[in-house]
Amino acid sequence: MDINQLPPDLQETVRFHGHLCPGLLIGYRAAQAALEKLGATRSEDEELVAVVENQSCSVDAVQVLSGCTFGKGNLFFLDYGKQVFTIGSRKSGKAVRVALRGDLIKPTGPDGRTDRGKFIAQLLNDPLEALYRVSEPQFEFPAEAQIFPTLVCSRCGEGVMETRTVTRDGRLYCLPCSR
Ligand SMILES: [Zn+2]
Ligand SMILES: [Zn+2]
Repeated sequence: MDINQLPPDLQETVRFHGHLCPGLLIGYRAAQAALEKLGATRSEDEELVAVVENQSCSVDAVQVLSGCTFGKGNLFFLDYGKQVFTIGSRKSGKAVRVALRGDLIKPTGPDGRTDRGKFIAQLLNDPLEALYRVSEPQFEFPAEAQIFPTLVCSRCGEGVMETRTVTRDGRLYCLPCSR
């Protein structure tokens, strides 16, 4: 597939992730749907938060489209192994949850395995309702990212965030050195 024929935001997503794959498209369509329903665009600061319930290819698309990233601290990971994504807007107080349908039928090839090319086309072109269940749940917004002072570990001499230090016998340690 010629990447240059894809929508610009999907091209950017593919560049960030490294390749075009079904997982990336699952996150791309989900994030697009959530943002559209919220009437939101990519988060520059922390006005949006995203909760993702897996750590697969799809999450990279959610980061690119929503601007909710690991580095900004507005991307939250729940290790549930589910293709489920919730994006919330601190501005409106609303959140949209997008879950890949459990009854989604993947196209299979003659060998009985998922036909990757056809699955990509399906994820790109099928209407949203055929792919996901979308809801607007009550959403508990996580606390905004905080900045703590940096202290110095008495053993390795490296700087460490105050809330991740351990004090023992009057000396301060980072977590790896405290073990
Ligand atoms: Zn991938
Ligand atoms: Zn240390």
